[in-house]
Amino acid sequence: MDEKQCRKVADMLEFYQDLGIDEFYVRRSGATRTATVPVQPVTVIPAPSRNSAPKENAPAPGQSSVAFGKRPFPHYTSAAAPQGVAAAGPTAQSMSLFESPSPTTTRQNETLEQIREDLGDCHRCRLAAGRHTIVFGQGNPHAELVFVGEGPGADEDAQGLPFVGRAGRLLNRMIELAGMKREDVYICNVVKCRPPNNRTPLPDEIEVCSPFLLRQIRTIKPRLVCCLGAPAVKTLLGVKEGITKIRGQLYDFQGTKALPTFHPAYVLRNPREEKILREDFQTIVEFLKSPR
Ligand code: SF4
Repeated sequence: MDEKQCRKVADMLEFYQDLGIDEFYVRRSGATRTATVPVQPVTVIPAPSRNSAPKENAPAPGQSSVAFGKRPFPHYTSAAAPQGVAAAGPTAQSMSLFESPSPTTTRQNETLEQIREDLGDCHRCRLAAGRHTIVFGQGNPHAELVFVGEGPGADEDAQGLPFVGRAGRLLNRMIELAGMKREDVYICNVVKCRPPNNRTPLPDEIEVCSPFLLRQIRTIKPRLVCCLGAPAVKTLLGVKEGITKIRGQLYDFQGTKALPTFHPAYVLRNPREEKILREDFQTIVEFLKSPR
């Protein structure tokens, strides 16, 4: 491409960026619409505004602002990519959480604090409008066991901590019956802001929020992730079967294991299921006792 064509393409990409479209695909030359030719991902590096001074790392004049095939943060959608890092790559389900995403990644060993910082005063989805506090997660940053619930309720929203209401007290009791303390484990949710009237989070809310959850799990590197209720199961395992059918079984989950069980709030509404919850906690204990 000559300089004029490059400028034209850069202008077009800038226009699409203004519309919020950040990922593009190019079809290899000669390919037709019907041919099954693999497409190559393209990461757009933000081009400087025509009216502003050039930013650090901005493409030099005459260079294209499109970097072909760069995949700095494979797990992230644009919603969850750390600031200044363009998002691209396979979905979280396609790669082990504990694999190195890329030798060029700048945040291979990010901390929970860094992830919290990236989340910021998040307004990436509509749940921000009704929340009082973002409930990021709580517990041991090196926990062997991570619990993932659905979303904060009223008590959690007020205190900024996960599972502190009635359901939280039941979860604490189960953790203690299993011979652990709450401080030993890490507890978080699929979405970090309270859905109105405690409704189930909507798919688009889960889509923008869950990459932060995946980053938390990847950072903690637990031996087991316990999915509390259907939204957690669906988000992390992609399993569509009902929770009653799949609970208590160990699933492979991106280089570690996951176990679906009932959400404690469901057990509070259906006290007869507490026996099942205890059984599943027993499975958790046995798994954690087993050799690595
Ligand atoms: S639910 Fe998650 S994505 Fe939505 S506003 Fe809260 S922190 Fe952001």
